[in-house]
This record gives sequence, structure tokens and C-alpha cells, in this order.
Amino acid sequence: MRTDRDPSAASTRPGGVLYVVATPIGNAGDISARALQTLREVDGVLAEDTRHSRRLLAVHGIATRLSPLHDHNERRVATQVLRRLEKGEHLALICDAGTPSISDPGLHLVRRVHQAGGRVRAVPGPCALVCALSVSGLPTDRFVFEGFLPARRAARRRRLASLRSETRTLLFYEAPHRIEGTLEDLRDLFGGDRSAVLAKELTKVHETVQSASLEELRDWLRMRSEHVRGEFVILVAGAAEESASSAADDARTLLVELLQELPVSRAVEIAGRVTRCERNLLYRLALEISGKGSKEGAGL
Ligand code: SAM
Repeated sequence: MRTDRDPSAASTRPGGVLYVVATPIGNAGDISARALQTLREVDGVLAEDTRHSRRLLAVHGIATRLSPLHDHNERRVATQVLRRLEKGEHLALICDAGTPSISDPGLHLVRRVHQAGGRVRAVPGPCALVCALSVSGLPTDRFVFEGFLPARRAARRRRLASLRSETRTLLFYEAPHRIEGTLEDLRDLFGGDRSAVLAKELTKVHETVQSASLEELRDWLRMRSEHVRGEFVILVAGAAEESASSAADDARTLLVELLQELPVSRAVEIAGRVTRCERNLLYRLALEISGKGSKEGAGL
């Protein structure tokens, strides 16, 4: 690649650069000049779906060779990519939409390049979670991205139970055929009054950002359930600080009782099943109660 103006390009370290390049999540205009230049000038582009990405490159008159890197071949391809980088080739990694390795292939490859002492550079751009957060009106100073929830209902509800007391804004990706069930679970486990936002089809013609309580959002979606298509990010306001601390208070009360009869590990195990508080918190509380840890360490 001729136009690597990155300061680290002056490094004497051998090997090419792996560029992690973001592409549009809907609106074809959302691709940066630097992304296009990178895709044009690298020696090869690794793409999740080469047919899909060939169209993107063709629209911009880019003829760089594409090769597949997806969930099913990433480990094998990573070894070949490392060899190419060692030979001095520069490569770009893209996914079907948005930023690679965010709920998409790429993490394993990026890790392998780091482990081998190679260079990975970001060419940033669209990412559905950041895009959704920026238009949601929910607090953006502290947030937690949970990716896709488990597909199976019982596992999904367990995961949500463990997040009930989370005070940061929560973000989830969800497939259209599960959106209704997931909203139902969110309402059941977080309470119908909790504020939430559905960000649908961001940057596309039918972009919708619907802000309401979980109860209202579930009803809103139910009324449209026959027409629910498209891509969604679900955002949920964090729990009020008081309810988070009262969950910890309940856990503390339970642990006090359990620790009269049981060792720390067993008490933490049972409290984990009953309260769904995080194991680390329960463990710190249990150590504090049993006099083996400091109050400060319990984080309360
Ligand atoms: N790598 C992508 C990124 O940077 O956001 C995410 C890919 S993940 C496989 C696909 C999920 O992202 C969808 O199921 C949806 O939850 C979310 N998503 C992607 N594009 C979206 C859009 N235009 N509007 C709303 N959500 C979107």
C-alpha cells in the first residue's frame, strides 16, 4: 500500500498492516474517504461475504481482490493472513455492515496479529450500537453493550436477571424474529416502567427511533408484529441507583444468614441462584461479612 501515512509506518518493524475498516450499516453514503482509499490501496480485502462486499467495492470502482473470512473459517484463514502480513502485504478486514469484530467476525484475527507482534490499525466508521446510543436520548456517559442475548428463552431470562440491577444504559442487538419475545422478557425482568428505546433500521429509509417504557414498547411492537422486519438495537435505561443498592442489600441479608451455616463458596453459590447478583459482588460481600475482606473491597 503506497499511502500509509500512519506515523507508525516509519517503524522498522517488518510486516504489513491489518486495517480494520468500517462500512455502512444501511446508508451507502456512510463510508469515509479514508476507508475507500484503504480498500483501494491494500493488497487484499478480507470480507465476511465476498459477494455482498464485491458490490460495495464495485460501486466505488475498487478492484482489490477479496477473500472470505467468516465465523466458520476465521481460525484457518488467520494463519494464512499472518503469513501474508509477514511477507509485507497490507490487508483490510471488513464485514457485511458496520465495524468488524463487533458482533461480527474479526476478533480472533485481530488477536492473532497482536500476538504475532504485527500492526492492526482502525479505519473507523459506522457501528450500530454507537449510532443507536447517539440518537437514543438515554445517558451516554456510562453504558454496557451486551451484544446478542441467548436465543433460548430460559438462558435469555437468566442473563437478563443478572443485569436487572445494572445502573449503566444497556444495549442489545436483536434479530427481528426474536424482538417481540425479548421485549417481553425485558418487561418481565426489568419491570414495565423502565425507560427504553427501540432503534430500527438506522440510516435507512424506514429509520425509527421509538422511545417509551418497556410496557409501551412491547405493545407498540405487538401492534405491528406482522410487519416487524429490519434490524434493531434495543436500549434500556440503567436501574436507578437505589434499586441497585437495594439488590445488594438483599444479597447481604441473605448472605448473613447463609454464612452462619455454610462456608463462603457454598453461601455465594446459593445467593447467586437466589439473587442473580454478580458472583464477584457476592464473593466480596461474603468475605466482608465473614471478616476475611475489607468493607471498601465490597464496593458498597
Ligand atoms: N458489526 C455491526 C456493527 O458494527 O454494528 C453489527 C453486526 S451484527 C451481526 C447485526 C446486528 O446489528 C443487527 O441484528 C442489529 O441488531 C444491529 N444493526 C445492524 N445494522 C443496523 C441498523 N441499520 N439499524 C439498527 N440495528 C442495526
